[in-house]
Amino acid sequence: MAQNGTTVNGVSEGRPAMPFPQPVKVQEIRHNKIFINNEWHTSIKGRTFPTFNPATGVKICDVEEADKADVDKAVEAAKAAGQRTSPWRKMDVSSRGRLLHKLADLIDRDRVLLATLETMDSGKPFLHAFFIDLDGSIKTLRYFAGWADKIHGKTMPVDDSFMCFTKHEPIGVCGAIIPWNFPLLMFMWKIAPALCCGNTVVVKPAEQTPLTALHVGALIKEAGFPPGVVNIVPGFGPTAGAAIASHMGIDKVAFTGSTEVGQLIKEAAAKSNLKRVTLELGGKNPCIVFADSDLKLAVEESQKGAFFNQGQCCTAASRVFVEESVYQEFVRRSVESAKNIIIGDPLDPRTSHGPQIDQQQFDKILELIESGKREGARLECGGVAIQDTGLFLQPTVFSDVGDHMRIAKEEIFGPVQCIFSFKSQQEAIERANSSEYGLVAAVFTRSMDRALAVTAALETGTVWVNCYNALHAQAPFGGYKMSGNGRELGEYALAEYSEVKAVTIKLSETL
Ligand code: ADP
Repeated sequence: MAQNGTTVNGVSEGRPAMPFPQPVKVQEIRHNKIFINNEWHTSIKGRTFPTFNPATGVKICDVEEADKADVDKAVEAAKAAGQRTSPWRKMDVSSRGRLLHKLADLIDRDRVLLATLETMDSGKPFLHAFFIDLDGSIKTLRYFAGWADKIHGKTMPVDDSFMCFTKHEPIGVCGAIIPWNFPLLMFMWKIAPALCCGNTVVVKPAEQTPLTALHVGALIKEAGFPPGVVNIVPGFGPTAGAAIASHMGIDKVAFTGSTEVGQLIKEAAAKSNLKRVTLELGGKNPCIVFADSDLKLAVEESQKGAFFNQGQCCTAASRVFVEESVYQEFVRRSVESAKNIIIGDPLDPRTSHGPQIDQQQFDKILELIESGKREGARLECGGVAIQDTGLFLQPTVFSDVGDHMRIAKEEIFGPVQCIFSFKSQQEAIERANSSEYGLVAAVFTRSMDRALAVTAALETGTVWVNCYNALHAQAPFGGYKMSGNGRELGEYALAEYSEVKAVTIKLSETL
């Protein structure tokens, strides 16, 4: 099934030269239980659920299923671990940073195993997991490890008879609900800032991909985090996830996933204890290619944006607007590039495109492709499943896409690139902004003046200029409009995991 050609992930061009890291043979899954208080627990209701390899459809193992009662148990542990007199709260702040560094060291030590587990459970190509997910996870931990002893308050000048200053304190128990597209990376985006600010956490991995999070549970214990600081409750959204969102003992919830579920979480938070909520939701991200751009770069990067992780990214470049004079050439090169993507067994390090996560997503993508054909978009390549291989889809390119079509408006979450033509800069900006989403955008041009003007006009939380998916632990990430609330990563994330206490002291003596 493998095809020769160019990868879409920026890791390698053509078939990678060996030696490259190779996946390990996983004989048995060692961690498949609920992780509370640094111990492994079975489900209170005595239930398990299977997790499957999407590349083969074969069950990997059964996992203990957390439900509301297990979430209660995890919250109790997290609450006790975060009490004001607990070892975690009394710990010297630089030791908190050292624990996060230690966890990063252990993840680095187990990097090949973690990348293998991630590939088995999610279907993402092994080298993507190894270089992108693992690298991002380690860097996120190290970045926030550095902040642990630098979370300063301020002193406010008020009138002379008072002294006024702020302290940044932990919020308390933070819930985290993780999606299946970047299981380990999103886990780290949540726990690293939460822990560096001194909170404790209850994390629910996605039901499709619980295995790397559970392996990290073992590493959290090995690193020496006190019991109860991190608790992991594998389970389903409407049960374990909903229990987190509505829990009276959880002070904040951070969620990455669909906009629909994000709305449910905010509603549950409002109806329970008004817990703080940060949401990282869907996108229908515009990528604007001007005629003066480096066309080779624009084709490569926009296609990387469309197809990376089988298109299962909230950042997917799903609306590519190309200036009329280079449109035909852009489409021609994009089709040629899409046909060369190496599709195959994701455990084979040469593969750059694996299966979709599950049947439900697979069917939804095919249904949207059909709607695109029906509504008059031009199917340039792909658009079909790869015969007899379960959940593999051909990378698909549509040209002549109209703004009214479903493929132009709905998040597809699959390997479908939609290319539109535009005439003027103003038109491109207006069409790019005419979406209920506002997560990311990209601009390709050689003119820095134009790049900055267009960037200023785009209504998105991130704008990439002459690049795509350029995420860094230092840069905040989050959405405008219905793409979410709040920011992850960077210094901005610290505000999402801290309460600010203003202290005002009346001075009895002034000079
Ligand atoms: P997708 O549609 O991409 O699978 P979801 O938003 O459904 O994304 O899932 C993202 C995460 O949210 C998963 O961990 C899932 O279990 C969880 N989830 C799903 N439904 C709910 C819910 N009603 N309440 C809380 N969490 C949920």
